[in-house]
Amino acid sequence: MTAKKERLAVYKAPPFPEEAAAAKADPCHNVFFMTRKAWKEIIRHCENERPCEACGLLSGKNGLAYKVWKMKNIHHSPTSFAMDHDELRYVFAEMDKYNQQFMGIYHSHPSGIAYPSREDILYNQYPDIIHLIVSLAGQKPVLKAYRYHGTAVIPYKINVTDV
Ligand SMILES: [Zn+2]
Repeated sequence: MTAKKERLAVYKAPPFPEEAAAAKADPCHNVFFMTRKAWKEIIRHCENERPCEACGLLSGKNGLAYKVWKMKNIHHSPTSFAMDHDELRYVFAEMDKYNQQFMGIYHSHPSGIAYPSREDILYNQYPDIIHLIVSLAGQKPVLKAYRYHGTAVIPYKINVTDV
C-alpha cells in the first residue's frame, strides 16, 4: 500500500478539462510512445499467462516507454488481476535507480475485448498513468491504450518505434 500511496503523491493527474482542451487543440496529444521490443514482450507475456490475465508495468525516459516489468497476477484469474505490494515496491525502486519514469500498466483480457472493464476503471489507483490492455480473444492479439479520469475513459493512440 505504501508504494502505491507514494506513487499517487508523485504522479498527480492534471485537471481533466485542461487535458480535454489540450487533446482538442492537438490531435496528436493523446499518443503513447513505446518501442517495438516492449510491445512484443508484453504480447508474449500475455500469451504465456493465458488462460489467466497477465499484468505488468512499463517505464522509460523522455516520453518513450521501453522497459517491461512482468508482474505476478496474485489473483491467478482469467477475469481479474492484482499486483503484489512488495513486488511493486521493488520495481518502483528499480525504476528510480535507473532514473526511469513509471509510464504505464498493462494487463490482458484473455477472452475479452481490449477495453477496460468496469472493475479496471473502479479500482484504478493510477489516474495519471497509461493503461494498456491486450485482448487475446481474436486471431491476433490487440493492444490498446487508455487513461482513466474518474469514470471517463480516454483512448490513446499507440506509436510503436523501432529504436
Ligand atoms: Zn481488465
